[in-house]
Amino acid sequence: MSTSAHNSPRPWKHIERRKTKTVNVGDVLVGGDAPISVQSMTNTPTADAKATIEQIRTIEEAGADIVRVSCPDEESTAALKEIVRASKIPVIADIHFHYKRAIESAEAGAACLRINPGNIGSEERVREVIKAAKDHNCSMRIGVNAGSLDKHLLEKYGEPCPEAMVESALEHVKILEDNDFTNLKISVKSSDTFLCIAAYRALSKACDYPLHIGVTEAGGLRTGTVKSAIGLGMLLSEGIGDTLRVSLSAEPAEEVRVGFEILKALGIRNRGVSIVSCPTCARRNYDVIGTVEALEKRLAHITTPLSLSVIGCVVNGPGEAMMTDIGVTGGGKGTHQIYLDGEAAYRLQDEDIVEHLVKLVEKKAAEIEATKAK
Ligand code: SF4
Repeated sequence: MSTSAHNSPRPWKHIERRKTKTVNVGDVLVGGDAPISVQSMTNTPTADAKATIEQIRTIEEAGADIVRVSCPDEESTAALKEIVRASKIPVIADIHFHYKRAIESAEAGAACLRINPGNIGSEERVREVIKAAKDHNCSMRIGVNAGSLDKHLLEKYGEPCPEAMVESALEHVKILEDNDFTNLKISVKSSDTFLCIAAYRALSKACDYPLHIGVTEAGGLRTGTVKSAIGLGMLLSEGIGDTLRVSLSAEPAEEVRVGFEILKALGIRNRGVSIVSCPTCARRNYDVIGTVEALEKRLAHITTPLSLSVIGCVVNGPGEAMMTDIGVTGGGKGTHQIYLDGEAAYRLQDEDIVEHLVKLVEKKAAEIEATKAK
């Protein structure tokens, strides 16, 4: 679990990442050996540039690499230029059907277009969109959704199924390839976890384009987090997925936090403090739950990867502390053991545990950053 102090080879933790091409979304690389990027999407009216930029700030602060905005009308693409200029992270324009919105978005500086070329209409329109994308260094994401599969595929397969979703994706890919455009990534999302996983597995065998993974419309914060963790967790553990979005009926910044937690749980990408804490029982020697709740809030500003164990008693405290950068284990009579770099360091007597740990974490984060800068 430790992220900076006690790294040793652990073959049972190894994930063999599937080899994919690399595409660019602005200055963020997706696929190949690039870190798996975390995305979210704004839910403000895009035409309201001020509100959208404000929401992008919260998404950036949560650590997102990329943000997507819907561009359903001309007012939205008109606001996009200002939004792109203000955003610190690349902006993807989400387009459905309207080829002119795609061209306007590319001209406004979108780093990527989420569009399905098979839905644009005539070949001439497809060519115009591709030309705009090439002229403005825009990549594209083909986004197949089980809930909106093409009619001919539903007729062929009878219902949404992995084969139909992959066939749909490859049909859209072919249109782009026939027009000499390969700067693309693909998603095959479903709100059904099993269908989603099966579709991505099949797609990853069928092509080597980078995959944007996500369980779509996963639900509210709690249910959506669990569903996404299962769906994305299974795919990522098989090496599938180059960029991800957790889809929640919640604040976009929550999607980003959950996305990072999924990556952290698999040891794929670390950001901020990973807290290991026990559920507590009658043996606990202090308020572990309250301490962890307070720490999660107080340490949200730390972006340096490091680990912290907050354990109620000696049953598991020393063992967890050995594997974390900083640890506290509850002891009797208000005396708690502090561990640094896996070693017992000193005892804390009647001091505010939260305040003490916040200071220790901030100091450790500063040390790690200083070492990196050397
Ligand atoms: Fe209970 Fe101690 Fe285990 Fe925490 S570490 S759950 S306090 S036995």
